[in-house]
Amino acid sequence: MSILKGMNLKLLLLAGLTCLLGCQNKQKQKTDPAVTDPGIHTTTNPDKNYELHYDAIDQEQAAQIVHWLDQGQKDIHQFFGSDFKQDFDVYLFSERDSLDKQWQKDWNMPDFKSQCWMVASGIAHRLDILSPRIWETQACEHNSKDTITTQKLIIHELVHVFHGQHNPSPTFEHVENIDWLVEGLAVYASGQLDEERYERAKTFMQTEEGPDKLANIWKGEHKYGLAGTLAKFIDDTYGRKALIQLISLTKADDVLQTLAITEEELIKRWKQSFLLINKSQARVIGIIGKL
Ligand SMILES: [Zn+2]
Repeated sequence: MSILKGMNLKLLLLAGLTCLLGCQNKQKQKTDPAVTDPGIHTTTNPDKNYELHYDAIDQEQAAQIVHWLDQGQKDIHQFFGSDFKQDFDVYLFSERDSLDKQWQKDWNMPDFKSQCWMVASGIAHRLDILSPRIWETQACEHNSKDTITTQKLIIHELVHVFHGQHNPSPTFEHVENIDWLVEGLAVYASGQLDEERYERAKTFMQTEEGPDKLANIWKGEHKYGLAGTLAKFIDDTYGRKALIQLISLTKADDVLQTLAITEEELIKRWKQSFLLINKSQARVIGIIGKL
């Protein structure tokens, strides 16, 4: 799950444009650290680089989320070799309606209703998540009892936050054809490219031609596997340093130029390497092997 699942990158990355809730909170907190959203609890800890906002009903869930956020940040530091550049807010929504209201504001779409598989989003200054406590009744395609998958989802969003903080377009609003990179990196670095997902994507690639344009990678039911393996291909071929260099770019053309390769050649070589990866290698994909 991600900020981008099934939706146009630009559309969803309108999130944060207006900086509505997050900015207001920051202003309030500057004058009175005790004041936050009405009815919302906030964890403040000078040792942490984020504040978690949640309803009282999610107190227990919040403690779990804090653990995952802290562990996730360690994993991200390990993967990227650097820290988050700025503090951010994490909002744990206790019901889908309140999450919808937030996204309606952020994306300036008053009639927006999220689909059941949309449970989280991440940009430079905030991470929104529908409380896993209610996924069973207010979400689909997600099982909160599967804590490893849930943790990976949160790390996925944290990678978006990290990426946004290192990109000239912190909300990813002013980007061009890099959804495959934004999502592929989040899938790969979060460990979501697991064996099952890889195998499904591999089968797809063996029976179909697969995408022939970067713009077509983050589409369809195998997009996690496709985008994730492309990020892995770049990591394996060009090295971690080169992969990290890409997070400061906003256009696919600049990515291709940095990698000194044409779009056609990149896709051709990725497809070749993708089909060569065997099952045992797929097991070690990603950084979350220790989870
Ligand atoms: Zn995502």
